[in-house]
Amino acid sequence: PVRDVAYFGAGPAKIPEEVLRRTQDDIVNWRGTGVGILEVSHRSTEYMAMMQETEERLRSMMDIPTEYAVLFMAGGGTAQFAAVVLNLVRQDPAKRQVDYLISGSWSSKAAQEAERLLAHTDLQVNQIQLFNKTKGEMAFTCPSEWNLSRETTSYVYYCDNETIDGIEMPSSDYIPDMLDACGCNAPIVVDMSSNFLSRPVNVRRFGVIFATAQKNFGPAGVTVAIVRRNLLTVAAPPLLPIPTTLDYCIFDKSHSLHNTPPCSAISVCNYVFEWLGTRFGTLVHIEQLAQHKASQLYHCISESDGFYRSPIPPNFQSSMNVVFRIVKADGQVAPELEDEFVRDAEGRGLTGLRGHRSVGGIRVSLYNAVRTEEVMRVAAFMRSFAEKHA
Ligand code: PMP
Repeated sequence: PVRDVAYFGAGPAKIPEEVLRRTQDDIVNWRGTGVGILEVSHRSTEYMAMMQETEERLRSMMDIPTEYAVLFMAGGGTAQFAAVVLNLVRQDPAKRQVDYLISGSWSSKAAQEAERLLAHTDLQVNQIQLFNKTKGEMAFTCPSEWNLSRETTSYVYYCDNETIDGIEMPSSDYIPDMLDACGCNAPIVVDMSSNFLSRPVNVRRFGVIFATAQKNFGPAGVTVAIVRRNLLTVAAPPLLPIPTTLDYCIFDKSHSLHNTPPCSAISVCNYVFEWLGTRFGTLVHIEQLAQHKASQLYHCISESDGFYRSPIPPNFQSSMNVVFRIVKADGQVAPELEDEFVRDAEGRGLTGLRGHRSVGGIRVSLYNAVRTEEVMRVAAFMRSFAEKHA
Protein backbone atom coordinates (compact mmCIF):
# COMPACT_ATOMS: atom_id res chain seq x y z
CA PRO A 1 0.00 0.00 0.00
CA VAL A 2 1.21 3.49 -0.85
CA ARG A 3 -1.32 5.35 1.30
CA ASP A 4 -2.57 4.66 4.78
CA VAL A 5 -6.07 6.09 4.33
CA ALA A 6 -8.73 3.57 3.35
CA TYR A 7 -11.13 5.33 0.99
CA PHE A 8 -14.73 4.16 0.52
CA GLY A 9 -16.11 6.98 -1.65
CA ALA A 10 -19.03 6.14 -3.96
CA GLY A 11 -17.63 7.93 -7.00
CA PRO A 12 -15.15 9.20 -7.78
CA ALA A 13 -13.84 6.22 -5.91
CA LYS A 14 -10.65 4.36 -5.21
CA ILE A 15 -8.40 3.37 -8.12
CA PRO A 16 -5.95 0.47 -7.58
CA GLU A 17 -2.58 1.75 -6.33
CA GLU A 18 -0.72 -0.14 -9.07
CA VAL A 19 -2.76 1.72 -11.68
CA LEU A 20 -2.12 5.09 -10.02
CA ARG A 21 1.63 4.40 -10.03
CA ARG A 22 1.70 3.53 -13.72
CA THR A 23 -0.37 6.59 -14.52
CA GLN A 24 2.00 8.77 -12.53
CA ASP A 25 4.83 7.70 -14.85
CA ASP A 26 2.61 8.10 -17.91
CA ILE A 27 1.97 11.75 -17.18
CA VAL A 28 5.59 12.56 -17.96
CA ASN A 29 6.37 9.95 -20.62
CA TRP A 30 3.65 7.68 -21.95
CA ARG A 31 4.81 4.25 -23.11
CA GLY A 32 8.23 5.57 -24.12
CA THR A 33 6.80 8.02 -26.67
CA GLY A 34 8.52 10.98 -25.01
CA VAL A 35 5.10 12.62 -24.71
CA GLY A 36 2.84 12.43 -21.67
CA ILE A 37 -0.64 10.85 -21.68
CA LEU A 38 -2.15 14.29 -21.05
CA GLU A 39 -0.46 15.52 -24.23
CA VAL A 40 -0.44 12.66 -26.72
CA SER A 41 -2.44 13.00 -29.94
CA HIS A 42 -5.51 10.83 -30.10
CA ARG A 43 -4.72 10.25 -33.80
CA SER A 44 -1.22 8.90 -33.09
CA THR A 45 -0.58 5.25 -33.94
CA GLU A 46 0.33 4.46 -30.33
CA TYR A 47 -2.81 6.03 -28.93
CA MET A 48 -5.14 4.36 -31.42
CA ALA A 49 -3.50 1.00 -30.70
CA MET A 50 -4.04 1.56 -26.97
CA MET A 51 -7.73 2.33 -27.53
CA GLN A 52 -8.15 -0.85 -29.47
CA GLU A 53 -6.36 -2.81 -26.77
CA THR A 54 -8.64 -1.27 -24.13
CA GLU A 55 -11.71 -2.33 -26.09
CA GLU A 56 -10.32 -5.85 -26.54
CA ARG A 57 -9.57 -6.18 -22.85
CA LEU A 58 -13.13 -5.24 -21.99
CA ARG A 59 -14.57 -7.52 -24.67
CA SER A 60 -12.60 -10.44 -23.35
CA MET A 61 -13.39 -9.75 -19.66
CA MET A 62 -17.14 -9.45 -20.31
CA ASP A 63 -17.30 -11.84 -23.25
CA ILE A 64 -18.95 -9.22 -25.45
CA PRO A 65 -20.19 -10.69 -28.76
CA THR A 66 -19.06 -9.11 -32.04
CA GLU A 67 -22.56 -7.93 -32.88
CA TYR A 68 -22.22 -5.43 -30.04
CA ALA A 69 -20.36 -2.13 -30.41
CA VAL A 70 -18.19 -1.05 -27.48
CA LEU A 71 -18.12 2.74 -27.32
CA PHE A 72 -16.07 5.10 -25.19
CA MET A 73 -18.05 8.29 -24.82
CA ALA A 74 -17.99 11.49 -22.77
CA GLY A 75 -20.64 13.33 -20.74
CA GLY A 76 -21.00 10.73 -17.99
CA GLY A 77 -23.97 8.58 -17.12
CA THR A 78 -26.13 11.69 -17.38
CA ALA A 79 -25.31 12.07 -21.08
CA GLN A 80 -26.30 8.40 -21.54
CA PHE A 81 -29.73 9.15 -20.04
CA ALA A 82 -30.23 11.35 -23.11
CA ALA A 83 -28.28 9.18 -25.58
CA VAL A 84 -30.57 6.22 -24.90
CA VAL A 85 -33.69 8.22 -25.75
CA LEU A 86 -32.17 9.91 -28.79
CA ASN A 87 -30.72 6.73 -30.31
CA LEU A 88 -33.47 4.23 -29.53
CA VAL A 89 -36.69 6.18 -30.01
CA ARG A 90 -37.51 5.93 -33.70
CA GLN A 91 -40.13 7.35 -36.07
CA ASP A 92 -42.32 4.32 -35.59
CA PRO A 93 -46.05 5.02 -35.04
CA ALA A 94 -46.43 1.64 -33.29
CA LYS A 95 -44.18 2.79 -30.45
CA ARG A 96 -46.15 4.95 -28.04
CA GLN A 97 -44.12 4.68 -24.83
CA VAL A 98 -40.77 4.19 -23.24
CA ASP A 99 -40.87 2.07 -20.07
CA TYR A 100 -38.71 2.98 -17.05
CA LEU A 101 -38.45 0.64 -14.08
CA ILE A 102 -37.79 2.89 -11.11
CA SER A 103 -35.73 1.48 -8.23
CA GLY A 104 -34.10 4.61 -6.83
CA SER A 105 -32.48 7.95 -7.52
CA TRP A 106 -30.60 7.21 -10.74
CA SER A 107 -33.37 5.39 -12.60
CA SER A 108 -35.66 8.21 -11.57
CA LYS A 109 -33.22 10.80 -12.94
CA ALA A 110 -33.01 8.86 -16.22
CA ALA A 111 -36.81 8.86 -16.52
CA GLN A 112 -36.89 12.61 -15.89
CA GLU A 113 -34.41 13.16 -18.71
CA ALA A 114 -36.57 11.02 -21.03
CA GLU A 115 -39.57 13.14 -20.04
CA ARG A 116 -37.70 16.32 -20.84
CA LEU A 117 -36.61 15.10 -24.26
CA LEU A 118 -39.96 13.60 -25.21
CA ALA A 119 -42.06 16.48 -23.82
CA HIS A 120 -43.02 17.81 -27.27
CA THR A 121 -43.69 14.43 -28.83
CA ASP A 122 -46.68 12.08 -28.57
CA LEU A 123 -44.64 9.52 -26.63
CA GLN A 124 -45.24 8.87 -22.95
CA VAL A 125 -42.66 7.95 -20.35
CA ASN A 126 -44.19 5.05 -18.45
CA GLN A 127 -42.67 4.93 -14.96
CA ILE A 128 -43.07 1.63 -13.12
CA GLN A 129 -42.12 1.59 -9.44
CA LEU A 130 -40.16 -1.56 -8.50
CA PHE A 131 -40.52 -0.99 -4.76
CA ASN A 132 -43.37 0.16 -2.59
CA LYS A 133 -43.20 1.31 0.98
CA THR A 134 -45.81 0.26 3.47
CA LYS A 135 -45.37 1.21 7.14
CA GLY A 136 -41.79 2.20 6.41
CA GLU A 137 -40.90 -1.26 5.01
CA MET A 138 -39.70 -1.49 1.42
CA ALA A 139 -40.99 -4.37 -0.69
CA PHE A 140 -40.39 -5.44 -4.28
CA THR A 141 -43.56 -5.11 -6.34
CA CYS A 142 -45.03 -8.11 -8.09
CA PRO A 143 -44.17 -8.14 -11.82
CA SER A 144 -47.80 -8.99 -12.60
CA GLU A 145 -48.63 -5.50 -11.30
CA TRP A 146 -46.12 -3.77 -13.57
CA ASN A 147 -47.94 -1.83 -16.19
CA LEU A 148 -45.54 -2.79 -19.02
CA SER A 149 -46.23 -1.41 -22.49
CA ARG A 150 -44.82 -4.55 -24.19
CA GLU A 151 -45.15 -4.18 -28.04
CA THR A 152 -45.65 -0.41 -27.88
CA THR A 153 -42.48 0.51 -26.01
CA SER A 154 -39.18 1.27 -27.74
CA TYR A 155 -37.27 -0.22 -24.80
CA VAL A 156 -37.42 -1.06 -21.09
CA TYR A 157 -34.91 0.81 -18.95
CA TYR A 158 -33.62 -0.02 -15.47
CA CYS A 159 -30.64 0.53 -13.16
CA ASP A 160 -28.81 -2.60 -11.96
CA ASN A 161 -27.27 -0.93 -8.91
CA GLU A 162 -28.66 2.24 -7.37
CA THR A 163 -25.52 3.89 -6.02
CA ILE A 164 -27.33 6.34 -3.71
CA ASP A 165 -29.95 4.00 -2.28
CA GLY A 166 -27.75 0.88 -2.04
CA ILE A 167 -30.20 -1.25 -4.03
CA GLU A 168 -28.83 -3.89 -6.38
CA MET A 169 -30.68 -6.44 -8.46
CA PRO A 170 -29.83 -9.94 -7.15
CA SER A 171 -28.15 -10.80 -10.47
CA SER A 172 -27.80 -9.17 -13.88
CA ASP A 173 -30.32 -11.74 -15.21
CA TYR A 174 -32.94 -10.89 -12.62
CA ILE A 175 -34.85 -8.17 -14.49
CA PRO A 176 -34.39 -9.74 -17.95
CA ASP A 177 -35.85 -13.01 -16.53
CA MET A 178 -38.84 -11.16 -15.10
CA LEU A 179 -39.47 -9.28 -18.31
CA ASP A 180 -39.32 -12.58 -20.21
CA ALA A 181 -41.81 -14.10 -17.78
CA CYS A 182 -44.12 -11.10 -18.37
CA GLY A 183 -44.00 -11.71 -22.13
CA CYS A 184 -42.11 -8.47 -22.75
CA ASN A 185 -39.43 -8.74 -25.40
CA ALA A 186 -38.60 -5.08 -25.95
CA PRO A 187 -34.87 -4.25 -25.95
CA ILE A 188 -33.54 -3.84 -22.41
CA VAL A 189 -31.41 -0.85 -21.51
CA VAL A 190 -29.44 -1.06 -18.29
CA ASP A 191 -27.40 1.44 -16.30
CA MET A 192 -24.56 -0.57 -14.72
CA SER A 193 -22.49 2.46 -13.73
CA SER A 194 -21.80 1.38 -10.18
CA ASN A 195 -21.62 -2.41 -10.51
CA PHE A 196 -19.92 -2.71 -13.90
CA LEU A 197 -17.29 -5.49 -13.88
CA SER A 198 -18.37 -6.66 -10.44
CA ARG A 199 -20.20 -9.79 -11.65
CA PRO A 200 -20.88 -11.76 -14.84
CA VAL A 201 -23.28 -10.26 -17.37
CA ASN A 202 -24.99 -12.12 -20.16
CA VAL A 203 -24.54 -9.27 -22.66
CA ARG A 204 -26.86 -10.85 -25.24
CA ARG A 205 -29.86 -10.21 -23.01
CA PHE A 206 -29.44 -6.45 -23.37
CA GLY A 207 -29.92 -3.85 -26.09
CA VAL A 208 -27.71 -1.27 -24.38
CA ILE A 209 -25.49 -1.53 -21.30
CA PHE A 210 -23.83 1.65 -20.15
CA ALA A 211 -21.53 2.47 -17.28
CA THR A 212 -19.93 5.72 -16.33
CA ALA A 213 -16.59 5.98 -14.62
CA GLN A 214 -15.54 6.82 -11.94
CA LYS A 215 -16.85 4.03 -9.73
CA ASN A 216 -15.77 0.54 -10.48
CA PHE A 217 -13.35 1.39 -13.29
CA GLY A 218 -11.36 4.29 -14.67
CA PRO A 219 -11.46 7.99 -13.78
CA ALA A 220 -14.31 10.41 -14.46
CA GLY A 221 -14.58 11.63 -18.04
CA VAL A 222 -15.26 8.36 -19.82
CA THR A 223 -18.42 6.31 -20.13
CA VAL A 224 -18.67 2.90 -21.74
CA ALA A 225 -21.71 2.04 -23.85
CA ILE A 226 -22.18 -1.50 -25.15
CA VAL A 227 -24.78 -1.40 -27.89
CA ARG A 228 -26.39 -4.13 -29.98
CA ARG A 229 -25.75 -2.89 -33.50
CA ASN A 230 -29.01 -4.07 -35.01
CA LEU A 231 -30.85 -1.56 -32.80
CA LEU A 232 -29.10 1.22 -34.71
CA THR A 233 -29.56 -0.16 -38.19
CA VAL A 234 -33.33 -0.55 -37.89
CA ALA A 235 -35.30 1.01 -40.76
CA ALA A 236 -36.98 3.99 -39.13
CA PRO A 237 -34.85 7.10 -38.56
CA PRO A 238 -34.52 8.54 -35.04
CA LEU A 239 -37.51 10.56 -33.84
CA LEU A 240 -35.35 13.42 -32.52
CA PRO A 241 -32.10 14.79 -33.96
CA ILE A 242 -29.06 13.25 -32.27
CA PRO A 243 -26.10 15.51 -31.44
CA THR A 244 -23.10 13.83 -33.10
CA THR A 245 -21.38 13.53 -29.70
CA LEU A 246 -24.20 11.26 -28.48
CA ASP A 247 -24.78 9.31 -31.68
CA TYR A 248 -24.00 5.61 -31.14
CA CYS A 249 -23.67 4.97 -34.91
CA ILE A 250 -21.13 7.75 -35.36
CA PHE A 251 -19.12 6.49 -32.39
CA ASP A 252 -19.25 2.94 -33.70
CA LYS A 253 -18.07 3.92 -37.19
CA SER A 254 -15.28 6.14 -35.88
CA HIS A 255 -14.11 3.64 -33.22
CA SER A 256 -14.95 6.24 -30.56
CA LEU A 257 -12.67 8.77 -32.27
CA HIS A 258 -15.35 11.05 -33.69
CA ASN A 259 -13.85 13.88 -31.65
CA THR A 260 -11.10 14.13 -29.04
CA PRO A 261 -11.78 11.40 -26.46
CA PRO A 262 -10.81 11.68 -22.78
CA CYS A 263 -7.41 10.15 -23.63
CA SER A 264 -5.90 9.90 -20.15
CA ALA A 265 -9.12 8.53 -18.65
CA ILE A 266 -9.23 5.79 -21.28
CA SER A 267 -5.58 4.93 -20.61
CA VAL A 268 -6.42 4.44 -16.92
CA CYS A 269 -9.35 2.19 -17.92
CA ASN A 270 -6.93 0.13 -19.96
CA TYR A 271 -4.78 -0.46 -16.85
CA VAL A 272 -7.81 -1.17 -14.68
CA PHE A 273 -9.09 -3.79 -17.16
CA GLU A 274 -5.63 -5.39 -17.25
CA TRP A 275 -5.39 -5.28 -13.44
CA LEU A 276 -8.78 -6.99 -13.08
CA GLY A 277 -7.67 -9.80 -15.35
CA THR A 278 -4.33 -10.42 -13.65
CA ARG A 279 -5.55 -9.85 -10.10
CA PHE A 280 -8.89 -11.68 -10.19
CA GLY A 281 -9.09 -13.60 -13.45
CA THR A 282 -12.80 -13.80 -14.10
CA LEU A 283 -15.98 -11.92 -13.26
CA VAL A 284 -17.21 -15.02 -11.39
CA HIS A 285 -14.28 -14.67 -9.03
CA ILE A 286 -14.77 -10.93 -8.72
CA GLU A 287 -18.42 -11.50 -7.80
CA GLN A 288 -17.49 -13.99 -5.05
CA LEU A 289 -15.04 -11.55 -3.58
CA ALA A 290 -17.50 -8.64 -3.79
CA GLN A 291 -20.14 -10.67 -1.98
CA HIS A 292 -17.65 -11.74 0.65
CA LYS A 293 -16.59 -8.14 1.31
CA ALA A 294 -20.16 -6.83 1.50
CA SER A 295 -21.31 -9.69 3.73
CA GLN A 296 -18.78 -8.58 6.40
CA LEU A 297 -20.66 -5.31 6.77
CA TYR A 298 -24.21 -6.69 6.39
CA HIS A 299 -23.28 -9.14 9.11
CA CYS A 300 -22.25 -6.27 11.41
CA ILE A 301 -25.59 -4.60 10.69
CA SER A 302 -27.68 -7.67 11.43
CA GLU A 303 -25.85 -8.50 14.65
CA SER A 304 -26.03 -4.92 15.99
CA ASP A 305 -29.40 -5.35 17.75
CA GLY A 306 -30.97 -2.66 15.61
CA PHE A 307 -28.26 -0.05 16.21
CA TYR A 308 -27.45 -0.14 12.50
CA ARG A 309 -30.42 -0.47 10.17
CA SER A 310 -30.41 -1.32 6.48
CA PRO A 311 -33.50 0.10 4.77
CA ILE A 312 -33.18 -2.40 1.90
CA PRO A 313 -34.83 -5.86 1.67
CA PRO A 314 -32.00 -8.43 2.10
CA ASN A 315 -32.31 -9.80 -1.44
CA PHE A 316 -31.64 -6.34 -2.88
CA GLN A 317 -28.82 -5.17 -0.60
CA SER A 318 -26.03 -3.93 -2.82
CA SER A 319 -22.60 -5.55 -2.79
CA MET A 320 -21.12 -2.31 -4.08
CA ASN A 321 -22.73 0.38 -1.89
CA VAL A 322 -23.58 -0.72 1.64
CA VAL A 323 -26.07 1.87 2.91
CA PHE A 324 -27.33 2.00 6.50
CA ARG A 325 -28.71 4.28 9.19
CA ILE A 326 -27.79 4.56 12.86
CA VAL A 327 -30.79 4.26 15.15
CA LYS A 328 -31.31 5.32 18.77
CA ALA A 329 -32.94 3.13 21.43
CA ASP A 330 -36.30 4.83 20.72
CA GLY A 331 -36.12 3.55 17.13
CA GLN A 332 -35.50 7.00 15.62
CA VAL A 333 -32.71 7.60 13.12
CA ALA A 334 -29.93 9.59 14.79
CA PRO A 335 -28.18 11.95 12.34
CA GLU A 336 -25.98 13.27 15.17
CA LEU A 337 -24.65 9.73 15.76
CA GLU A 338 -24.08 9.35 12.03
CA ASP A 339 -22.02 12.57 12.08
CA GLU A 340 -20.02 11.21 15.00
CA PHE A 341 -19.56 7.88 13.16
CA VAL A 342 -18.14 9.65 10.10
CA ARG A 343 -15.87 11.87 12.24
CA ASP A 344 -14.54 9.01 14.36
CA ALA A 345 -13.98 6.84 11.29
CA GLU A 346 -12.02 9.63 9.62
CA GLY A 347 -9.89 9.84 12.76
CA ARG A 348 -8.94 6.22 12.09
CA GLY A 349 -8.16 6.78 8.44
CA LEU A 350 -11.49 5.41 7.13
CA THR A 351 -12.83 8.03 4.72
CA GLY A 352 -15.62 8.61 2.20
CA LEU A 353 -18.31 7.07 4.43
CA ARG A 354 -20.97 9.79 4.45
CA GLY A 355 -24.23 8.84 2.70
CA HIS A 356 -25.34 10.80 -0.37
CA ARG A 357 -26.49 14.31 0.56
CA SER A 358 -30.01 13.55 -0.72
CA VAL A 359 -30.61 10.62 1.67
CA GLY A 360 -28.15 11.00 4.59
CA GLY A 361 -26.96 8.01 6.61
CA ILE A 362 -23.78 6.04 5.99
CA ARG A 363 -22.64 4.53 2.72
CA VAL A 364 -19.62 2.26 2.38
CA SER A 365 -18.69 1.71 -1.25
CA LEU A 366 -16.77 -1.48 -1.88
CA TYR A 367 -15.71 -1.38 -5.49
CA ASN A 368 -13.09 -3.78 -6.84
CA ALA A 369 -10.13 -1.61 -5.80
CA VAL A 370 -11.17 -1.75 -2.12
CA ARG A 371 -9.25 -4.54 -0.41
CA THR A 372 -10.74 -7.06 2.02
CA GLU A 373 -8.43 -5.85 4.85
CA GLU A 374 -9.87 -2.37 4.38
CA VAL A 375 -13.42 -3.71 4.68
CA MET A 376 -12.40 -5.58 7.85
CA ARG A 377 -11.19 -2.28 9.31
CA VAL A 378 -14.64 -0.77 8.75
CA ALA A 379 -16.32 -3.84 10.24
CA ALA A 380 -14.12 -3.63 13.36
CA PHE A 381 -14.85 0.09 13.64
CA MET A 382 -18.61 -0.50 13.30
CA ARG A 383 -18.50 -3.00 16.15
CA SER A 384 -16.51 -0.74 18.46
CA PHE A 385 -18.74 2.27 17.66
CA ALA A 386 -21.87 0.24 18.42
CA GLU A 387 -20.35 -0.99 21.71
CA LYS A 388 -19.44 2.54 22.72
CA HIS A 389 -23.08 3.59 22.27
CA ALA A 390 -24.70 0.45 23.67
N1 PMP B 1 -26.04 6.20 -12.91
C1 PMP B 1 -25.54 5.76 -11.75
C2 PMP B 1 -25.95 4.40 -11.26
C3 PMP B 1 -24.66 6.55 -11.02
O1 PMP B 1 -24.17 6.12 -9.85
C4 PMP B 1 -24.28 7.82 -11.53
C5 PMP B 1 -23.25 8.70 -10.83
N2 PMP B 1 -23.26 8.72 -9.48
C6 PMP B 1 -24.86 8.25 -12.73
C7 PMP B 1 -25.70 7.41 -13.40
C8 PMP B 1 -24.55 9.61 -13.29
O2 PMP B 1 -23.27 9.64 -13.77
P1 PMP B 1 -22.48 10.99 -14.10
O3 PMP B 1 -22.29 11.72 -12.82
O4 PMP B 1 -21.22 10.47 -14.71
O5 PMP B 1 -23.31 11.75 -15.07
